[in-house]
Amino acid sequence: MTFRVALTFDAEHPDRPTEPGVAESILDHLRDAGVRASFFVQGRWALAYPGTARRIPGGGHLVGNHSHYHAQMPLFSPAGLATDVRDAEAVICDVLGVDPRPWFRCPFGHGHDDPAIVGALAGLGYRTIGWDVVPEDWEQPAAAVEARVVDGVTAFGDGAVVLLHAWPASTGTALPAILARLAGAGARFVGLDELERLPLDTPS
Ligand SMILES: [Zn+2]
Repeated sequence: MTFRVALTFDAEHPDRPTEPGVAESILDHLRDAGVRASFFVQGRWALAYPGTARRIPGGGHLVGNHSHYHAQMPLFSPAGLATDVRDAEAVICDVLGVDPRPWFRCPFGHGHDDPAIVGALAGLGYRTIGWDVVPEDWEQPAAAVEARVVDGVTAFGDGAVVLLHAWPASTGTALPAILARLAGAGARFVGLDELERLPLDTPS
C-alpha cells in the first residue's frame, strides 16, 4: 500500500547553535534518494548562502517564502508585513530564479491560524501552509527525529506534511534513515503542489 508524504524544510538562519553544512547535506541526501521536497526560504538566508539556496530549485524542489526577517507576522503593521513578504519574494526571485508564490509559511507558525494574517498573506498572493507532523527537530536528537517522523507519518496516513528545518544537525543525520524507512513502508515523496489537501491552507 502506497501513501504520499510531503517533507518540508524551513531554510533560515538558525536560532540555536548547530553545525555548518547541514542544508548542503540535506540536499545531497534528497538528491541521492531521488526525493522531491519543499523548502520555505527566508530571504536573508538566501542572501547569505546564495549557492546553497540555488541548489533548491536546481534539485527540482518546490520553493516557498518564509519571510525576510523571520519575525513574528502578528507583530507587523499591515504595511510592514507586506514589505517583509515582498522583500523575501524579491530575493528569492533574484537568487533562486523562481517565484515562491503561492507558498508561504509563517515564522514559528505565529499567525498562521489568524484570519487577519492569513487574509493579508492571501492579498499578497500566498496560501499559508502549516504541517501535520512536527518532530521538533530544532531540539530533538537524531534518533528521536527519525522515530517521530516515521511514526507520525505512518499514523497520519496518505498526504502527511512534515515540518523540518534545513539547519539542525539532527535532521541531516536522521534524513537518510527517514527516507529509507518511509520508502520501505510504501511512501511516495511529493511536493506540496502534488497534494489536494494542505494543513491550515484556506481554499481559494
Ligand atoms: Zn522558521
